[in-house]
Amino acid sequence: MKIAMLARNPDLYSHKRLKEAAEERGHQLDIINTLRCYMNIASRRPEIFYNGSKLEGYDAVIPRIGASITFYGLAVLRQFEMMGVYPLNESVAIGRSRDKLRSMQLLARDGIGLPVTTFAHDPKMTEEVLKTAGGAPVVIKLLEGTQGIGVVLADTERSAKSVIEAFRGANVNILVQEFIKEAGGTDIRAFVVGGKVIASMKRVGAPGEFRSNLHRGGSAEMIRISPEERSTAIRAAKSMGLNVCGVDMLRSNHGPVVMEVNSSPGLQGMEMATGIDVAGKIIDFLMKNAQAGKTKTKGKG
Ligand code: ADP
Repeated sequence: MKIAMLARNPDLYSHKRLKEAAEERGHQLDIINTLRCYMNIASRRPEIFYNGSKLEGYDAVIPRIGASITFYGLAVLRQFEMMGVYPLNESVAIGRSRDKLRSMQLLARDGIGLPVTTFAHDPKMTEEVLKTAGGAPVVIKLLEGTQGIGVVLADTERSAKSVIEAFRGANVNILVQEFIKEAGGTDIRAFVVGGKVIASMKRVGAPGEFRSNLHRGGSAEMIRISPEERSTAIRAAKSMGLNVCGVDMLRSNHGPVVMEVNSSPGLQGMEMATGIDVAGKIIDFLMKNAQAGKTKTKGKG
């Protein structure tokens, strides 16, 4: 199989591991810098050029598109889809998961447990928004944030109001969410591949930190998740339409609640914590499923 991986940094652990796993299985995996691809989008015969030559003969494409280049990256991925190359995750599905608001609406529609979450545009609605989220303490999140940056815990009504007003004044979109105190600064990440949870870990925040992101100093360990958590993760992946994703959940008093579905989950933390060959499982999934023209959307929508 000839695989293209859309990624900017070939030295990242996840990218190196995917290349290794593909080569171990006798496949070719080329790392292609997404931003260096160019294409004639008006041509009836979709094609992509890279470093002066046409990209041809690929059976599958692994999108590892960073949040900051989502727009261009998805356009390149769509072009691959139109060429009939099988994507590990489809462009539409990645688009859904990248928009926190849209993904929560879709998860809610499918009856998946979520923290009570409110969204409003007008800063005059601050009091009502706070009331709907159950009052302080609340978690306020920038819609565009990643890796825990732009996630704020406001302990009191007064601090919540000033944070909301400050964010709104800066003209950024925010979500206001009930604070799941009982999660105790830990969260669960379930790694889903092809409708199955293949590995899961618990992330624990640094002392005094309510955010458990590894990038914020958290640590990770392997856990066995409950059947309810497992089915929540699988349903969340299905609801987004993602073949491969990391589903982040909190253990709340009312069962697992999904915080986020990540379409390009990092492999390092998960492989280190669990010892599971996550990269190998991803390549095995591609081997089983990548067939020309099997893309559902063929770059539509
Ligand atoms: P990001 O996408 O930037 O990582 P998250 O929404 O995943 O942001 O939040 C970062 C971390 O903050 C989570 O891993 C979790 O530990 C904590 N957290 C987020 N939302 C809540 C919440 N509603 N209640 C309790 N802790 C939360």
